[in-house]
Amino acid sequence: MNCQLALKALVNNWLNSEQTCSLCSEPAEQPYPLCHPCENELPWLIDACQRCALPLPAANLTCAACLRRAPAFTSVVAPWRYGFPLDSVISRFKHHRQWPLGRVLALLLSHDLRHRFEEGLPRPHLLLPVPLARRRLRVRGFNQAAMLARWLSAELQLPCSEGWLTRCRDTPAQQTLSARARRRNLRDAFSLTPAAQPAGLHLAIIDDVLTTGSTAQTLAALLRRAGAQRVDVYCLARTPSPAQA
Ligand SMILES: [Zn+2]
Ligand SMILES: [Zn+2]
Repeated sequence: MNCQLALKALVNNWLNSEQTCSLCSEPAEQPYPLCHPCENELPWLIDACQRCALPLPAANLTCAACLRRAPAFTSVVAPWRYGFPLDSVISRFKHHRQWPLGRVLALLLSHDLRHRFEEGLPRPHLLLPVPLARRRLRVRGFNQAAMLARWLSAELQLPCSEGWLTRCRDTPAQQTLSARARRRNLRDAFSLTPAAQPAGLHLAIIDDVLTTGSTAQTLAALLRRAGAQRVDVYCLARTPSPAQA
């Protein structure tokens, strides 16, 4: 027994010593490539809207927008607030092809999800990454949401389908638009492919950052109209409302 414990400790030490922090390049001393100080510096989202994960000043609240009009999705899981230094980490993953950064964030998101599943959040039947328009995919060369979905799928043993949702209209970059313009912009932008069979299923939409939530709302409404029993959203980060930013 003692022998086994000693062996386990040795293996643990070896695993931990092998990892280098993806952010500061110091030894990570954790079983994944992120050191404690860098992990602590991430803007962990503690108090947020129970429905859409909008950062709020206190726990167990629902934001005004969700109270006014309940979103088509049931809940949003986002470990972080979109802010320094996470914004630059996500940007390095998304715009500079630094896969290990995306990989470690996906791993931490999977830890958060595993914890929430243990606490009672229902496990979905399938993960669905937010699709990129074909032209954007050609320019960027990859879909960051699909990469996150694949990593989450492997970590959580949940199937993932990249063939159900399609972006049929090339829409202007969402970041530059107001909430109202985004909604207009998104109308008719997405559709389900003939392969999609959402009826009766609990689905989880995967994205990197949830900004106004209009993309998630559009996709969740589309899936619910096609019979999905429940739609959740898993993303890395949630932006504060413009007033809080
Ligand atoms: Zn570090
Ligand atoms: Zn809300």
